[in-house]
Amino acid sequence: MKALVYHGPGQKAWEEKPKPVIQQPTDALVRVTKTTLCGTDLAILRGGVATCQPGTILGHEGVGVVEAVGSSVSGFKPGDAVIISCITSCGRCDYCHRGLYSNCTDGGWQLGNTIDGTQAEYVRVPHADNSLHLIPADFDHEAALMLSDIIPTGLEVGVMNGEVKFGDTVAILGAGPVGLAALLTAQFYAPGEIIVIDLDEHRLQKAKALGATITINNSDGQAAEKVLALTNGRGVDVAIEVVGSPVTCELCQNIIGAGGHIADIGIYAKSVQLHKHILWTKNITLRLGTVNTTTIPLLMKAIKNGKIDPTTLVSHRFKLSDIIHAYDVFANAAQEQAIKLVLTNDADAAQPGANAEAVIQEIVAQVLRKMQ
Ligand SMILES: [Zn+2]
Ligand SMILES: [Zn+2]
Repeated sequence: MKALVYHGPGQKAWEEKPKPVIQQPTDALVRVTKTTLCGTDLAILRGGVATCQPGTILGHEGVGVVEAVGSSVSGFKPGDAVIISCITSCGRCDYCHRGLYSNCTDGGWQLGNTIDGTQAEYVRVPHADNSLHLIPADFDHEAALMLSDIIPTGLEVGVMNGEVKFGDTVAILGAGPVGLAALLTAQFYAPGEIIVIDLDEHRLQKAKALGATITINNSDGQAAEKVLALTNGRGVDVAIEVVGSPVTCELCQNIIGAGGHIADIGIYAKSVQLHKHILWTKNITLRLGTVNTTTIPLLMKAIKNGKIDPTTLVSHRFKLSDIIHAYDVFANAAQEQAIKLVLTNDADAAQPGANAEAVIQEIVAQVLRKMQ
């Protein structure tokens, strides 16, 4: 089969790899029909994720069709359409029983990190019964793909850890795919104000279209002053940090109001400063975390009933075999106006009419970008 293989910092290749096989009775073999790229993949390629060894197939998000299951898998059978959770988990250990799937003693973030991932024609999924979710017949597969990681991450690590509630003033620092996922899911709780801060004007426009009440371009470095002016000097109730940089970490602390919650989603490459000597008098709660994907079933219900449409985050569509080109587009996200890219297995993309709309959309988008 073909797969996107990490070969050390700055090096990747779309190359031939052996098709995976069932190794454990709890495994499933899934034919990947759609996958996508994540900021985390770029972090690996920068050499920022030490756990990912050269030779690993990248990718932790995907939907597909079950091809084979191990002898103890009872919830899935060949032919089932499934969401592959970015977190694989046994469902039985102490952590899993507490809903901490990302801390599973025999799982966590493995795919595209410590084991071969989803940017391939096939993937082996450990602990299939707890790590896959059945996609109903009438469910949009691009929407399903967004549930592998980004929508649950925005909801669980941003909105739920931040304890967003009715009437709150919420700031989201970073309007990439996960920041926008936090924006979409924050609205389940009807906050009174959602301020989105970024450096990219296109992403800020997108945020405005998706429910941000105020957007701030921090190119001038004045975001903290602007947020404090907007809140009569009080600061925000919830600050959701989605970048993982010293600048946004500092900004969170500068804009958080008394009794506020800081929810950190961003992946930090190195240590950052926490100003406890200032924050302690403000009764601040700070939460850090990795997604557990426990909300996937709830989000499926919300999508099915039209409460949220994650396909609005899809900006580009490619065939899986065009993945190197897709990486180039994603790495130049600002220039390319890229948010979330969908890669469809060539066998599925080739079906007559299957991708016609997507191809036309992409041509129109390319022409519009060239005209700008
Ligand atoms: Zn991801
Ligand atoms: Zn477990």
